[in-house]
Amino acid sequence: MEKKGNILMQKYEVGKLIGQGSFAKVHHARDVKTGRSVAIKIIDKEKIEKVGLMDQIKREISVMRLVQHPNVVQLYEVMASKSKIYFAMEYVRGGELFNKVAKGRLKEDAARRYFQQLIAAVDYCHSRGVYHRDLKPENLLLDESGNLKVSDFGLSAIVESKRHDGLLHTTCGTPAYVAPEVINNRGYDGEKADIWSCGVILYVLLAGFLPFQDPNLMEMYRKICRGDFKCPQWFPPEVRKLLSRILDPNSSSRITVAKLMANPWFKKGFRPSNLIKSGQGQGSTSSSDIVQEEEGVEQEPAPAKLNAFDLISLSSGFDLSGLFEDDHQNSKREAWFTTQKSPDAVVSKLEELATTQSFRIKKKDGGRVKMQGSKEGRKGQLAIDAEIFEVAPSLHMVEVKKTAGDTMEYLKFCDQGLRPTLKDVVWHWQGSAEDLCPQAIQEECVPN
Ligand code: AMP
Repeated sequence: MEKKGNILMQKYEVGKLIGQGSFAKVHHARDVKTGRSVAIKIIDKEKIEKVGLMDQIKREISVMRLVQHPNVVQLYEVMASKSKIYFAMEYVRGGELFNKVAKGRLKEDAARRYFQQLIAAVDYCHSRGVYHRDLKPENLLLDESGNLKVSDFGLSAIVESKRHDGLLHTTCGTPAYVAPEVINNRGYDGEKADIWSCGVILYVLLAGFLPFQDPNLMEMYRKICRGDFKCPQWFPPEVRKLLSRILDPNSSSRITVAKLMANPWFKKGFRPSNLIKSGQGQGSTSSSDIVQEEEGVEQEPAPAKLNAFDLISLSSGFDLSGLFEDDHQNSKREAWFTTQKSPDAVVSKLEELATTQSFRIKKKDGGRVKMQGSKEGRKGQLAIDAEIFEVAPSLHMVEVKKTAGDTMEYLKFCDQGLRPTLKDVVWHWQGSAEDLCPQAIQEECVPN
């Protein structure tokens, strides 16, 4: 290994862990020669190789080197050891933008300034053929002058690798920011998908909560696919109009970046970011940018179960289990998965499962399947119901739950029968925390 003590590649003195995504760790480090602070992102090579993305990543890294914009976290250097890839990046000191929103929604001018910086970064990268495809709160950092910096631009191969691996995807991605055509896996235009996510981000900055939310994940997917959202009273009419153009579920009629940048609300006070040196700032945000509750501005009633910040505060990934269950016991008995396969394909996998596990299976109307074990367990025979719901023509959700029998036997059945048999039809699992959490990158390569 090319590091001695906590010196990486004889060049970077690696310090404390500053962030942990689901597939990467980020450490603060110092360039021993120049003293410059950097952030080192460490990625497990084996995981990337397994999904055959190494070449794509190499290509994307070479593109990323060309991306230099005041609102994009700059990649300085890429290093590799036998098992890891190390990205040395610009160190951004001000934390995540959404830590600020978590304290309260932003005033219109502050929200607009961040949105302008976000769109400036997106426009610059798109003009160089680089798409983000996974814009979300943890990718939006603030520097010490309050300027927005988008991280992970161009690393979409790595981001996408999460989608090929059901386990990784579940905790890494929240559907809340993802465009309908990405959810439906219809083949999509990177530009339009990024604009959608920017629209969700603008909404969250101004509202303090997500535009598409529902205690039930399937409903949430449906709302996204229909573009079904409501603006709170305090949204100005120009913003409402603009959001309806951005959060258009039809990507071909959705606004383009060029048209968005010509919008009068967007243009107000806009200074193209490439004229601003990093650290110079367009005026840093302060607590006065946040709408204070005491101001007596209308507050949207809190959503019954899902608070946007329950999600946002989990910046290392969104554990969606809270969307389904309040009670831990239930989360053991029920699990959900999404699938892009047809209901028939799911049912035939369930039939295969029933055969191998010696279960009786009955198909019912409305996409329901009942399975019953033949063995008498501690609490009688194990019985399991599966129900298939259509979210969109190419996306279904399947609920699997135990209706009778012993929970331990059921969990064993899930681990040893259900999951392995269904792995080819499952896009990603949602359910109890242990279902969702991928193995964190196991091999600790840098001491904390
Ligand atoms: P990521 O895997 O990119 O989502 O990073 C996980 C967390 O590490 C982020 O949410 C940030 O809090 C932190 N982080 C990532 N990149 C940087 C950076 N360049 N400078 C400072 N903190 C960072």
